[in-house]
Amino acid sequence: MADVCLYCQAPILVGRADRKYCDSKCRSAFHNQQRKDAFARTIALNKLLMKNRNILKKLSPEGKGIIRKEVLLRYEFSFEYFTNLYLTQKGHVYYFCYEYGFCPILEKGIEKLLIVKWQDYMANYQYNPWKKLR
Ligand SMILES: [Zn+2]
Repeated sequence: MADVCLYCQAPILVGRADRKYCDSKCRSAFHNQQRKDAFARTIALNKLLMKNRNILKKLSPEGKGIIRKEVLLRYEFSFEYFTNLYLTQKGHVYYFCYEYGFCPILEKGIEKLLIVKWQDYMANYQYNPWKKLR
């Protein structure tokens, strides 16, 4: 028997050995809480992606621009998070946060980003995650 209810932590003294909740109220409350937590995580992630997108937009007022990586770090840009990838025929990778993306570049050893706005022709691109394994 579970020692305590997964939802309210009250000791479970009676019932089947695999009992996890006091009653059906605690069971549904527990599952509702789990759904809420999962939803809160997607909201937080979406907020982070929107922040990245807004930084890229701000730094490329003409829809295009080259900017040092450190400037984005000052705005607390999160390089780990992006919505989609675009690879050029030459193999350059663009990381998009919604309709704004960047390609990492090196200019005289300095890490910079080439920021671009999403173009319609990019929609035809299909990323193959297994390509590099061949
Ligand atoms: Zn309970």
